[in-house]
Amino acid sequence: MTSRGGTIVQKYGGTSVGSAERIRRVAARIARNLDSRRGLVVVVSAMGDTTDDLIELAYQVCDEPSDREMDVLVSTGEIISSSLLAMALRHLDVPAISLSGPQAGIRTDTRHSKARITAVEPERVLRELTRGDVVVVAGFQGVNPEMDITTIGRGGSDTTAVALAAALRAERCEIYTDVDGVYTTDPRIEPRARKLTDITYEEMLEMASHGARVMHPRAVELGEVYGIPILVASSFREVPGTLIHGGSTVEPVNKVRGIAHDFDIAKVTVRGVPDRPGIAARIFEPLAEAAVTVDTIVQNASVDGIADLTFTVSRGELPRALRLVEPLARELGGAGIVTNDRLGKVSIVGTGMQNTPGYASRMFRTLYDAGINIELITTSEIRITCIIAEDRVKDAVRALHEAFHLETSGPDSELEAAQTRRARAERAPD
Ligand code: ADP
Ligand code: ASP
Ligand code: MG
Repeated sequence: MTSRGGTIVQKYGGTSVGSAERIRRVAARIARNLDSRRGLVVVVSAMGDTTDDLIELAYQVCDEPSDREMDVLVSTGEIISSSLLAMALRHLDVPAISLSGPQAGIRTDTRHSKARITAVEPERVLRELTRGDVVVVAGFQGVNPEMDITTIGRGGSDTTAVALAAALRAERCEIYTDVDGVYTTDPRIEPRARKLTDITYEEMLEMASHGARVMHPRAVELGEVYGIPILVASSFREVPGTLIHGGSTVEPVNKVRGIAHDFDIAKVTVRGVPDRPGIAARIFEPLAEAAVTVDTIVQNASVDGIADLTFTVSRGELPRALRLVEPLARELGGAGIVTNDRLGKVSIVGTGMQNTPGYASRMFRTLYDAGINIELITTSEIRITCIIAEDRVKDAVRALHEAFHLETSGPDSELEAAQTRRARAERAPD
C-alpha cells in the first residue's frame, strides 16, 4: 500500500448534506479550507432521511424485502450525495471526482446490512489524489467477494471514513456532523450537556456501542487499532470540536466522562430451561449464524436444575430472534418465552471509574430516587449499564447527568472529596 503523508479524510453526515443548498455550503467550506499540498478524501452519507425513506419504499412493494436487494437499494442514497457534492465542487473550480464504495476499494464480508469491512484497496483513490482531485466517496457501502453490494450498518459512513484514513495512512479523520462535537450526553436530551475537548478511543467506543449515535462504534475501533486521531466537529459552524485519541485526556476530568442511552431494546426471557452444559450454546449459536446481534445476556441462578435465560436485541431483530428461539425453547421443554419490547438503556462511562468503588451504587440510588425500575444491569471495567423502561430513558439521562455533575468540568467532586478525606484521615498521625 502506498503511503501518502498529510492526507486528510473528512466525512459529512446526512443532515450536513441534507439539501442542495447544504451540499453547496459543504462544497464552499471545502473550497475555502483546501490545502493543495495535501490530498483530500471526502466521505458522504445519504441526504437527510434518504436511507429511512428508501427502506420504507421497499416495504411498500413487499412484506419481506431480501437483504441483498435492500443493500442495493439503500446504497443508492450515498451515490446521490457523492455525485452531487463532486458536481458542486467542480462548479467552484475545485477538481473533484465521486467514487462508489466498491470503486474506492471497500471490500466487505457477506453479511448484508451489517457487513464488516475486510480490506480497503485504495489504488483508485490514490490515483485520483495524485491527479489532484478531491475524491468524494459514497459512505456506508462496499462490495463482497461475490461482487454484490453490501452496507455496513446504520451510521456506517463514519466507518468508511476511518477505514479509508487507515488505508491511506492519513494524518487524521474529521467527522463533520450536526453537533459541535462529542458531549457528556446527547445535547438534544440534556441541554446542559457539555462539549468534551477530547475523549479516549476506549471511552468513545463504550459510549458509541451503547447508543451515543454521534460516532459509529466500528469507526472508533478502527481508529484505535490504526492509531488514527478522529476529530468530531460541526459541519455548520467553524468552532473547535472533540478529539478522539489514544492518550490520556487533557482536561481535568470527572471520573464519569459521559452518559449514553438507547431507546431501542427488546428483552427475551426463555423460561425454565434445563441448567446443564451446552444449553446456552444451543440457544445462541443459531442467533449468531443468523447475524442477530445479541447485547445483554443474563442467566439466573438455577432452582432444581431449571433456569431462566434472558437476552436483549434491538426491537427490529425481535421477530427474527423469536423465530429462531421459539422452536428451540419447545424442544428443550422450557416453560415458554416472555418478551418486553418497550425497553431502553442508560450507561455511565469513564476510565476513571475503574477500581473506584461507589459509582454503581450512586447510579442505582439516582435511578431509585427518580422512581425508575432497573430490569437488568451489565458492566464492563469502564461502564455500568441499566436496562430500564423506554419511556423513562430521558429522565434517567437527565438525573444521572446531574448526579455525576457532568455540566461542570471539574473533578467529580462529592465522591472524590470523600475519598480524599478518607485517605488523609488514614495517613494522619494520631
Ligand atoms: P450524522 O448524520 O452527521 O452522522 P448522527 O445523527 O448520526 O449524525 O449523529 C449526530 C447526533 O448524535 C447528534 O445530533 C446527537 O443528537 C446525537 N448524540 C448522541 N449522543 C451524543 C453525544 N454524546 N454527543 C453528541 N451528540 C450525540
Ligand atoms: N445513510 C446511512 C444511514 O442512514 C449511513 C450513514 O448515515 O452513515 O444509516
Ligand atoms: Mg452518524
